[in-house]
Amino acid sequence: MKNNILGIIGGGQLGRMTALAAAKFGIECHIFDPDSNAPAFKVCSKSYIYDYENINAIKEFASGVDTALYEFENIPLKSAKIIEELCLLRPSSFILSVSQDRLIEKKFLLDKAKVQTAKFYECNSYEDLVNAKNLIKGPSVLKTRRFGYDGKGQIKIDSDTDLLSAWKNIGSDKLILEEFISFKRELSIIIARDHNNNVQLYDTVENKHKNHILDQTIAPAPEISSKISKLSRDIAISIANELNLIGILAIELFELNNGDLIVNEIAPRPHNSGHWTMDGCITDQFEQAVRAAVGINLGSTERLFNIVMQNLIGDDIYLADDLINDPNCRVHLYGKQEVRPGRKMGHINRLIR
Ligand code: AMP
Repeated sequence: MKNNILGIIGGGQLGRMTALAAAKFGIECHIFDPDSNAPAFKVCSKSYIYDYENINAIKEFASGVDTALYEFENIPLKSAKIIEELCLLRPSSFILSVSQDRLIEKKFLLDKAKVQTAKFYECNSYEDLVNAKNLIKGPSVLKTRRFGYDGKGQIKIDSDTDLLSAWKNIGSDKLILEEFISFKRELSIIIARDHNNNVQLYDTVENKHKNHILDQTIAPAPEISSKISKLSRDIAISIANELNLIGILAIELFELNNGDLIVNEIAPRPHNSGHWTMDGCITDQFEQAVRAAVGINLGSTERLFNIVMQNLIGDDIYLADDLINDPNCRVHLYGKQEVRPGRKMGHINRLIR
């Protein structure tokens, strides 16, 4: 077993669960997050509480670890590149650069990975937006290129939407207008790829959202056809190979009624729709991210249980006291002090057997 120190950029629940997975192999984690209350700080051996732009702190952090990974995409690219000069960064800063900007991401998916995306247009001015709306014709979604998550930085545009107010309200002038897809359901798939180009894929799952936040993941996706299952795997492999991924990558997909799959977005990190793997698979997504980062062979993604993953959002956390007594429920809490509406406080994996 490698005696590595793993750096984790971002101290949210994803960083916390990654650090817990690393601990199983005796790997210590150093965590970097500007928020002193970040939940991952409670489970790591060294905390760096600095802004992501603090170059001296970034250098000290990167010099003190063998390998680093990130648990979210909104890290300044400049900082990621500095980290990459001082230690292994897996996934790479190139992959980060693709995934943190919707325009670059969509162009990459379409032109390089050659997978299907929603029709999209770059909008840097109100005139661009008017032109794009005319080109798309039907309903569309206006999205900020950066810093969007859980439906933030998005406005649905219908024929009667006041386009000028949408333009003024979205809070950025670096945008894309995307065709609105009337999908049958939302799916996702997670792929892991190591430094020897070996890949492992998890089962394709179905995701249900409430208020734009992931509510439930059903693993595997109910009644998924072998065609869709194969297509989702092929898409994941194309993207991972084209990115030269070392690490794990989640791919969010729209399944259409005609049997097509459209890639919505990618995330080169553990993903909420992969939390089911913690109790459903031989190797969970967090352990897999650690394995790929530090250079241990990837683990088996074989599914042991069908799982329904339910996020505990805001006050849902108070259900945990009862759920913990249910023998088919595995409860995972993130140790966040403050309960806020819309805040992910934990999740449960219900074993279906
Ligand atoms: P995103 O931030 O791109 O993952 O979008 C958040 C959610 O908004 C997705 O999970 C979908 O439910 C919905 N959404 C995003 N883009 C589109 C689209 N082009 N058409 C229909 N729904 C969308």
